[in-house]
Amino acid sequence: MAQLQRPELVYVSGRLVPWEQATLHVGCEAVTRGLSVFEGVKAYWNADGTLRIAMPRQHYVRLQRSAKLLHIPFTATYDEYFRAIDMVIGALAKPDRDMWARTTLFGVEGHWGENTVADLVVTAYHQGKTPSDPIKVGVSTWRRSSDVALPPRIKTGSNYEVSRLARIEGRPQGYEDMILLNSSGRVAEATASCVLMVRNGAIITPPATESALESITLDLVEALAGSMGIPFVRRPIDRTELLIADELAICGTLHEVTPIQNIAGTPMPVSGPVLGKIRERYFEAMRGTQPHPAVEMVALPSVKKAC
Ligand code: PMP
Repeated sequence: MAQLQRPELVYVSGRLVPWEQATLHVGCEAVTRGLSVFEGVKAYWNADGTLRIAMPRQHYVRLQRSAKLLHIPFTATYDEYFRAIDMVIGALAKPDRDMWARTTLFGVEGHWGENTVADLVVTAYHQGKTPSDPIKVGVSTWRRSSDVALPPRIKTGSNYEVSRLARIEGRPQGYEDMILLNSSGRVAEATASCVLMVRNGAIITPPATESALESITLDLVEALAGSMGIPFVRRPIDRTELLIADELAICGTLHEVTPIQNIAGTPMPVSGPVLGKIRERYFEAMRGTQPHPAVEMVALPSVKKAC
């Protein structure tokens, strides 16, 4: 069973505090109405011995957008945001492990949108360096909400209740993740990542207007595909197309590019000619063995270089 790590230190209100002290009050809107917006960022050990964050500026900008849409004041500059991540990861990094950080703005004061005050909290966790194995996924009976209900464009904690239900639904059937359809019954995304489908040599993914998050990884995959001469198309995807696809994968900052080996009982080729190449190129860019102009990897100055 997956266990949440309990790192020693957490960034709260501008400083590092012990895990046990990183708490929220029962009366605050983050607790009573789930008022929070967040980003998951990934740090990779690079070929030059530095630990680097992938696309930090894009994550900062998306956090700003989520905060704006929920009327949560977010005053930290990009430099302050990056320094917060650097402080936590700098205190916890180990040379044999990559890390990921959850940067969350919690609504700590205010009531029904009046006088809202938010606090930036950063928690960081260790991760193995080996890419994930191919996964089995199902198609959930739960639906991703629409833009007029709980907009998927907002990366808020409460948007993940449906993802949680979908994972609970899939677990007894041996599914490691679930695809969520949108309110029109077309493919939206997976529970914490986007969907990549290959048909006739082209990579196809639903646009964000199909009820998916505006994904940073999708933009990277599009740029990588572009420089490899692979067509990349954003268009709606019908559920039955998943079953007759040539290749399938999920993609996201933390899920990277993970092949789908079985969709709702239908086996899929896992090292297909298109997504296999994209996955390889993705890791070359993340590890800095072969950088790509669209992939910004920023070194964490507080982390000692690994030899
Ligand atoms: N959809 C959902 C619901 C997610 O949680 C994520 C992960 N952030 C993604 C898609 C992929 O987004 P990104 O590539 O920016 O990590």
